[in-house]
Amino acid sequence: MKITIHRGTDQIGGCVTEYESNGWRLFVDFGEQLPGSKHTGALEIEGLTKGDISKSALLITHYHGDHIGCIKELPKELPIYMGKLGRDIQNIYLKHISNKDKSQKVVIEMLNGAHCFTPGDKFDIGPFNITAINIDHSAFDAYAFRIEADGVNVYHTGDFRTHGFRSRKIDKLLKIYANNIDYVVCEGTNVSRKDATSMTERELQTEFQKYLKQKKSHIVYLSSTNIDRLFSFYHAALRAGMPFFVDKYQMSIMDAVVNSGDMWTKSELYQYGAHKPKVLSWHFNEKFVNTVLRKGCVLIARSKQNFDDAIEKLPGEKQKYLSMWNGYVDKTKEAYNEKLAQSLGTDYIELHTSGHIDMSSMHEVLRLLNPKAIIPIHTDNPDAFAKLFGDEWNVILLKDGESIACQK
Ligand SMILES: [Zn+2]
Ligand SMILES: [Zn+2]
Repeated sequence: MKITIHRGTDQIGGCVTEYESNGWRLFVDFGEQLPGSKHTGALEIEGLTKGDISKSALLITHYHGDHIGCIKELPKELPIYMGKLGRDIQNIYLKHISNKDKSQKVVIEMLNGAHCFTPGDKFDIGPFNITAINIDHSAFDAYAFRIEADGVNVYHTGDFRTHGFRSRKIDKLLKIYANNIDYVVCEGTNVSRKDATSMTERELQTEFQKYLKQKKSHIVYLSSTNIDRLFSFYHAALRAGMPFFVDKYQMSIMDAVVNSGDMWTKSELYQYGAHKPKVLSWHFNEKFVNTVLRKGCVLIARSKQNFDDAIEKLPGEKQKYLSMWNGYVDKTKEAYNEKLAQSLGTDYIELHTSGHIDMSSMHEVLRLLNPKAIIPIHTDNPDAFAKLFGDEWNVILLKDGESIACQK
């Protein structure tokens, strides 16, 4: 088996990895680069964007734009494999944005035709045997892959963390699915972000619950597909006896999770409690105003004009929260989102923890995997990654487009 990292050896977004065996090519992820990336231009890859694709397939780890965002550039006949619920959530999101961006209709069709898997599924593509391993990340239904061919076992981590609600059993999961690993193709997002994971999701929920003791409107800016955070704050509101408002689009995402039959929905966290979330009506009636004044509320908002107007009209005291990466409202960052910064204003509380693993937890995970070699991707500092783990393991630093022939 040969591994090629087409993109992502020295940047966080836009990773594309290829596994090749016997003329078959298995690609993992085909996403957008993050704003301000140094590499520009579309990728041209034999067997993916051009040439013979009859022995090719694309696996998608999860629905974040930096992993799936460029698939509309791919030939329509290319087989795509993706987690079932992740695919469904992505299609709700794409339908929502296709009102403004018609080109997304093509992607919806591509994803409707995808081969869907669920946690623990095993399947073959040519000489490759693949296991889909469900991991915890800020995207729901995200996966790592075990990829076997030519007697070589690779663990492709995808984006993941160990401080979320769904990561407690990662040791067990790795013992079952990730034994005898030769190579780890490993995400290294937080190698230079030392304090990104100072809180667990549960601690963050407790923190939010403390704020809910105050009967006011708690307005939370949050990624609409950050399922864990959404349900976490919903249950915090339930416990505080506060109504929880979302817009119709956000409600359809919550409904999709609750009704999915996904294994995680056995947990109460991903179910509705005594009071369901309510769809916010943009025209407030007297009953709504009285409820908000009497009980306060939690409102999940996005930086859109209709939300801005509604928030302006909300009665009583208000408190805003930023529950995503603060780089979006930092003018010095390429990812700066002026509209979000405007909607948020200056008087807000930050309530966020990373979707990615911290490096000391990574050390533990790598010890469980105990590979012969590690290839870091999805990192802006591969040298720091090599420095951190190079004493214990063989860390192979590739450049974009470079390959390595795997040794058994
Ligand atoms: Zn991600
Ligand atoms: Zn990513």
